[in-house]
Amino acid sequence: MSLVVQKFGGSSVADVEKIKNVARRVVDSKKRIDHVVVVVSALGDTTDELVGLAAQISKLPPEREMDMLLSTGEQVSMALLAMALNELGQDAISMTGQQVEMLTDTGHTKAKIRHVGAERVIQELRKGRVVVVAGFQGVTSEGEITTLGRGGSDTTAVALAAALHADYCEIYTDVDGVFTADPRVVPEAHKLEQVSYTEMLEMAATGARVLQSRSVEYARNYNVPLHVRSSFNVGEGTWVKSEDDIMEKAIVSAVTHDFDEAKVTIVGVPDKPGVAASLFGGLADSNINVDMIIQNVSEQARTDISFTVSQDDIEKVRQVTEEIVSALGAEGSNFDDNIAKISVVGAGMRTHPGIAAGMFKTLAENDINIEMISTSPIKISCVVRRDDGEKAVKALHDHFGL
Ligand code: ASP
Ligand code: MG
Repeated sequence: MSLVVQKFGGSSVADVEKIKNVARRVVDSKKRIDHVVVVVSALGDTTDELVGLAAQISKLPPEREMDMLLSTGEQVSMALLAMALNELGQDAISMTGQQVEMLTDTGHTKAKIRHVGAERVIQELRKGRVVVVAGFQGVTSEGEITTLGRGGSDTTAVALAAALHADYCEIYTDVDGVFTADPRVVPEAHKLEQVSYTEMLEMAATGARVLQSRSVEYARNYNVPLHVRSSFNVGEGTWVKSEDDIMEKAIVSAVTHDFDEAKVTIVGVPDKPGVAASLFGGLADSNINVDMIIQNVSEQARTDISFTVSQDDIEKVRQVTEEIVSALGAEGSNFDDNIAKISVVGAGMRTHPGIAAGMFKTLAENDINIEMISTSPIKISCVVRRDDGEKAVKALHDHFGL
């Protein structure tokens, strides 16, 4: 018995014609695959529009109410797609996160999946139906509606694929696959045939927008092969799979960028044990993901600590840092959103020294100043001025011969 989970992103279901197109593709797949589960995102920019509405009412809306609001987007698309499928003669039924038992913790707006029941999904599939599931949403054991973080429909799809032991999970989107760089920045960028979970994870974490990081983590943990492909043509996309299944490993696979981070600096922090722990503990308690961190050399027992966060979290970060600045007796804080994070990712980096040096040299030759650096065994990231961002991506893509 073959079983495939197919996820269609917001741009693939942006309007009625596109929803009908998705329905045709699903019907087509159903001819070849025994069981098809479809996960949908909200229509087009619906989620952004809902976020915009909330922002007009409150600077910091209660997160529970944000989830109540944002989860409505996916319910519109699931019902419309189920109707479109039925219209084509394909029996289909839509289901909410609650109905598919997408159980999460209580971390509103960034909830983590605890368990996927999928009882009813299996029952409906057995009746020969296509099951259309609302992406992005879950439910707590108390029955509260949660969402899985922006881009969370990918994670819904992968979690269902894992729970249902699907053969693979297809992520349909408005690009042809995963590219060596964002083609809007680097027109010469090309589609990768395959990439490992670890590389994809680094790429997603450093700004490649094609997949939500958490979905890749989930896919790696449960070994769910992912196929990222276009919903507007039938060409092969990019397969994301285990490193063991990838024969030829590239030294550098991609150059990514993230223009949506902000740098926060806490100035004049007393340099004594426990300071970083209380600062980052406070941010973690507020569910804020911190990316890069640097601490300066201390002078007169005081130091500066800088870190980057997503611009989406900036209001929450302001609140938490204000409390922490006064609790620690620091001199103050400043916020800078005029930055770009540029990263070079590749599994082969582990065994090939000199990639970092090549990156720094390329940036230097282009007169680009590096403000922060962070590395992992398969990634090097640099924070530069936002104005230098695109130039940096182009130069690095060229330098590494991608
Ligand atoms: N609609 C949600 C968002 O825009 C979830 C998703 O698209 O995956 O973030
Ligand atoms: Mg979306």
